[in-house]
Amino acid sequence: MIAAPRFPAEVRWPVVLLAIAWLARAAAAAASDVAGLALENPAPGVYVHYGEVAEMSRANAGDVANLGFVVGARCVAVIDTGGTYAVGRRLREALRKVTTLPVCYVVNTHAHPDHVFGNAAFAADHAEFVGHARLADALQRRGPNYLNALHRDLGDASDGTLLVLPTRTVSDTLDLDLGDRVLTLRAWPTAHTDCDLTVLDRASGTLWLGDLLFADHIPVLDGNLRGFLDAIEALRTQPAARAIAGHGRAGAWPQALDSEERYLRTLQADVRAAIRAGQSLSQTLGATTTPPDPGWRLVDAFHRRNVSAAYAELEWSE
Ligand SMILES: [Zn+2]
Repeated sequence: MIAAPRFPAEVRWPVVLLAIAWLARAAAAAASDVAGLALENPAPGVYVHYGEVAEMSRANAGDVANLGFVVGARCVAVIDTGGTYAVGRRLREALRKVTTLPVCYVVNTHAHPDHVFGNAAFAADHAEFVGHARLADALQRRGPNYLNALHRDLGDASDGTLLVLPTRTVSDTLDLDLGDRVLTLRAWPTAHTDCDLTVLDRASGTLWLGDLLFADHIPVLDGNLRGFLDAIEALRTQPAARAIAGHGRAGAWPQALDSEERYLRTLQADVRAAIRAGQSLSQTLGATTTPPDPGWRLVDAFHRRNVSAAYAELEWSE
């Protein structure tokens, strides 16, 4: 039984009514003051939110990466949390509409801000934060700059965003049991970044690739081009019923890797040829490289950066 609230006799009723109205409003706000993200449910227990294929902005509040969760018999694992605390809260709100089971794991596929900056929304769940063995180092090195840029570019939309470091790390593979459902995590050598992690839901054959797979969104190189191509080759042998890219919608597996591989191989061949011909970085950044396939989006934002990264990597080895 819950005792009715008592108010001292001298308190006037208008004050009491105001207090009750405030409590009711606060309770309603606690129940749901954010709109849940839109989810798709491609297999039993698998939920995916497709972020916009865009750079982070005030308008999208950092909702630009693919996120989701897998529901087991005992608990839930979240896979990537979005680019701001607000996006993380909206993901959590969507999750709570699907299940009341506890969130036991929050897995980050790599250190880029659009994948990790919603982590704080799951802090009260006492989940384990799981990532590649090098994730903490990457977040500590780059996190403060990522946060400054986020506050500068997104303003209020970035409120509440914090760096949340992993509490459990993966250096090779790790199985997480959600209750009658096992996720196999795999840490990769440097490829898209130096801390890429993939997640396979064995029950449904769903393979979450983080940014080892780009669809629609031009691939981004922030690690090692040879390593990225090696990872693609190894991933092709991984059986899966479906793939979830870090950005965009992946087609059938493993053909979903084809256009990314073509882009990266062309980049490698062009930059290698430019270096062998004695061209400088600025000459190489000119008109000498093959323009990316017109199907890719965000070419202006990332292609030249990829050429620079490939040039820096290849110039000492050609
Ligand atoms: Zn990334």
